[in-house]
Amino acid sequence: MYDTIIIGSGPAGLTATTYASRAKLKTLVVAGAKWGGQLMLTTEVENFPGFKEGILGPDLMDNMWKQAKRFGAETIFEDATAVDFSSKPFKVTAGNKVYEGKTVIIATGASAKWLGLESEKRLRGRGVSVCATCDAAFFKDKKVAVVGGGDTAIEEALALSKFAREVKVIHRRDKLRASKILQERAFNDPKIEFIWNSTVQEILGKDRVEGVRLRKVDSNKEFELACDAVFIAIGWKPETEIFKGQIELDQAGYVVAKDTTKTNVEGVFVAGDAQDYRYRQAITAAGAGCMAALDAEKYLEA
Ligand code: NAP
Repeated sequence: MYDTIIIGSGPAGLTATTYASRAKLKTLVVAGAKWGGQLMLTTEVENFPGFKEGILGPDLMDNMWKQAKRFGAETIFEDATAVDFSSKPFKVTAGNKVYEGKTVIIATGASAKWLGLESEKRLRGRGVSVCATCDAAFFKDKKVAVVGGGDTAIEEALALSKFAREVKVIHRRDKLRASKILQERAFNDPKIEFIWNSTVQEILGKDRVEGVRLRKVDSNKEFELACDAVFIAIGWKPETEIFKGQIELDQAGYVVAKDTTKTNVEGVFVAGDAQDYRYRQAITAAGAGCMAALDAEKYLEA
């Protein structure tokens, strides 16, 4: 029986682990078959406090991992495949075993939707990104492309236009899905231009992004656009499938939190991108992980 079972091992999960195990809670981390979360797919991280020269995403996660492990948390490198929150203790299934916990902290994160191109995978972190807040500063005075037509895409384009020389938004239709206010801002931004009715066929470049090959949806005509970066902004998916029917999720599948980290099930807490579709930063996820562990500790004391 664990005091707390933490599901997920990104910044939210590992910060929760440090706080929970340092507070002497008997802690199990279900880290997942691929531990570390989204930062394992990033190169340079320049905005995480404490690293004045920046740090590589995998190195940051390795540091967090070693720090979290110092205080004796147990870990399993399996994906959680089911949970049962209908009675206490809570049950978490992972690797064909069932683990019991007095509390659970959900820190399963979210994943960006990708186009599914081989070139997109190969050039990830080499000009292909899903986070303008993280990576826009690397493309000062460069020409960049954004793929998508929703709020995320337009927010990314606006964030990029503060740094880049030109921003091309590539959208598969001739109308944006984004809210009117964001659309207006983008249309009024002289650096942002739209390429309508076009899909990305390939991201070009050997070691770095050099451009994209696009196809017009109506004519099937292909053409190339030179650019130094491609920001994929076609939506996000919270990793919350296993919680369906167990806790309250919103329409898009994000965990609904009340009073910061509490879910509608007493004793089950949430932290990071599984709940937060707004900020999606390593530092905000880490902060939420800290809060969830403190909330779990308080709940156990009560
Ligand atoms: P979204 O609204 O689902 O938009 C995704 C966009 O990507 C759509 O324009 C879609 O095209 C396009 N797309 C999807 N799959 C594609 C593919 N395979 N190839 C090319 N294009 C593709 O996602 P989101 O923009 O991430 O927003 C998600 C939710 O968060 C929304 O409810 C949004 O309002 C909210 N949000 C709000 C804010 C804000 O208020 N400031 C900021 C960010 C997100 P189609 O239009 O043709 O379907």
